[in-house]
Amino acid sequence: MKQVPRVNKAECISCGVCIDTVPAVFRFDEENKAEVYDPDGADAAAIQEAMDLCPVACIYWDE
Ligand code: SF4
Repeated sequence: MKQVPRVNKAECISCGVCIDTVPAVFRFDEENKAEVYDPDGADAAAIQEAMDLCPVACIYWDE
């Protein structure tokens, strides 16, 4: 089964690192929380990098 990235918005502190790192996958929603708008916008390695850089580790892989 294919894994897709998701953001736990309750934990997101709106730092923007994931959006700066992979703007083709992440964006801010209307409440300034990160969200995934195109899970296929970048390869898994790039998405993993954003996950690793997130200061509160609130991006995760879901199946
Ligand atoms: S890197 Fe993490 S805390 Fe920062 S905006 Fe993205 S999801 Fe939110």
